[in-house]
Amino acid sequence: MSAPSPPTPPANPFAGFFGVFRYSRRAIRLVWETSRPLTLGLAVCTLVAGVLPAVAAWLGQLIVDAVVAAMAAHREGGQAPTFESLWPVLRYVLAEAGVIALIALAQRGLSAQQSLLRAQLGHKVNVMILEKAGQLSLAQFEDSELYDQLTRARREASTRPLALVNKTFALGQHGISLVSFGVLLVGFSPWALLILVVGALPVFLSEAKFSGDAFRLFRWRSPQTRMQMYLETVLAREDSIKEVRLFGLEPLLLGRYRGIFETLYGEDRRLTIRRDSWGFLLGLLGTLAFYGAYAWVVIETVGGALTLGEMTMYLMVFKQGQAALSAGLTAIGGMYEDNLYLSNLYEYLEQPVEGDAGTLTAGVLPGDGIRFEGVAFTYPGAETPVLAGIDLHLRPGQSLALVGENGSGKTTLIKLLTRLYPPSAGRILLDGSDLRDWDVRALRRRVGVIFQDFVRYQLQVGENLGVGDVAAFEDEARWQAAARLGLADAFIERLGGGYRTQLGRWFKGGQELSGGQWQKIALSRAYMREEADILVLDEPTAAMDAAAEAEVFARFREHSRDKMTILISHRFSTVRAADQILVIDRGRILERGTHAELLARDGRYARLFRLQAKGYR
Ligand code: ADP
Repeated sequence: MSAPSPPTPPANPFAGFFGVFRYSRRAIRLVWETSRPLTLGLAVCTLVAGVLPAVAAWLGQLIVDAVVAAMAAHREGGQAPTFESLWPVLRYVLAEAGVIALIALAQRGLSAQQSLLRAQLGHKVNVMILEKAGQLSLAQFEDSELYDQLTRARREASTRPLALVNKTFALGQHGISLVSFGVLLVGFSPWALLILVVGALPVFLSEAKFSGDAFRLFRWRSPQTRMQMYLETVLAREDSIKEVRLFGLEPLLLGRYRGIFETLYGEDRRLTIRRDSWGFLLGLLGTLAFYGAYAWVVIETVGGALTLGEMTMYLMVFKQGQAALSAGLTAIGGMYEDNLYLSNLYEYLEQPVEGDAGTLTAGVLPGDGIRFEGVAFTYPGAETPVLAGIDLHLRPGQSLALVGENGSGKTTLIKLLTRLYPPSAGRILLDGSDLRDWDVRALRRRVGVIFQDFVRYQLQVGENLGVGDVAAFEDEARWQAAARLGLADAFIERLGGGYRTQLGRWFKGGQELSGGQWQKIALSRAYMREEADILVLDEPTAAMDAAAEAEVFARFREHSRDKMTILISHRFSTVRAADQILVIDRGRILERGTHAELLARDGRYARLFRLQAKGYR
């Protein structure tokens, strides 16, 4: 965990205030791009729901005044009320009923459109996140910050953007209501309006400021939150729980989890207390201003300056104005978390990706094979090189074996060959052309690699083979052919559902395989890659029994007669048949040659070979 620097106070006191709205515009643009009709619908409903309460208040005034006038007329005339005499009052009642119905319609419209948008937006954001993930380089994936951004972005993709939009719109709606109430109030006295605005301003500003503080606090402590998330994963996932149980790690990890919570909670509590105390005190100012103006209206009415109807209207305006104000504050209060989410999302989406400049689909020297020339490599962020001074040449039809201790750099060499990373120095050529100049898809089509940590997809057995060639993903005949070559056919046919058996534990009816069976699946996956003429197997048989291993390699040699094959293995029984053997030690080539040459040389290879042979004797 890198030590985070504490949040710096904003230079401009209003920065916190506007900070809360920083991402609202982008959220609205995102919603606009997701669905224009729904966004327009939301805007219209927001406007209607914002303005109509003031109209209802104004109609309330007309009703009361009309009632008072009608009562006076009846008292003078002395007759019973008729429909004609009642109609002037009733039409206002009718109109108010209509307005209230419209408000209800607008609110229904808001919630219906919001839930439709939620589904669309969540999907859109998830697709954006995953598409971006597809463009990132492996080095970027291994960057913990970026990976963290990715996980956080995915976790709340379906709720946060819309929440921010909803709150922005809600704020707009309450703002419109307040302005329209203000328009009515000016009729009473511009001073009353001023009092209300001045009274409400402090609480608005404090709410926005503390939201900004919370936003910065949350960002600053993201590494701790990330550790907490990681601990949750370790403690509650099927692939780690076995070891956690056996080693009795629960109390230790839970203790650490609790510790992080305590620290974070302390900070939260301080902020919450400060925020709510200030919110209450400043909010009191606003309420006082409201009720001061209210008292003023009452006094004026008693003095005869206002009609009863006007008093009714102002009364409604004050009540609803207060409610709109506090709803607006709540919206601002909740916005920082949504902002936090969006800032994270956009930082992730705006990560620069390296452009793929290469366009070659064939090399300048077809048939030249693979060449490494003075290749060196240092992992991003690391200080010492993992590989240095690597030269090698592998022609079609030849096989190469890499031998070396764990961590000597064998897998890294394969990662360079498949262009998962660019070399830090030197160059790698395929058919005479630098890998950098190759079109990456053309290049990848030619390579079939089974890494040591191949993926155990929680899909059907057949699909687990099919992933080896996307063009034949669903092709059952190809699955069977590949499984035969990879020696997986026998056990697959014994599985309950044959090639349609679900693997893994995540889904219903899923079956788990043994390590050796999984390796046979991975090997068959490599055989699915019919187009590939470079086959790489990284410890493909470590979990297999000796008989299976011998057969696997007999098959492999037969199948790959005209291909280039690279094999990483610790078993000399399999290594010895290679045309070329490289002994790698701490990233450098220590020895090279055929099995016989290396034995004759009596160096490291010969010593290791004799050691292993002795073990078998
Ligand atoms: P081998 O396949 O020979 O066991 P690797 O090529 O996997 O060895 O690893 C070589 C060295 O590179 C090791 O010291 C390992 O710590 C380091 N290494 C491997 N992968 C990464 C990575 N993604 N980032 C940084 N260092 C790595």
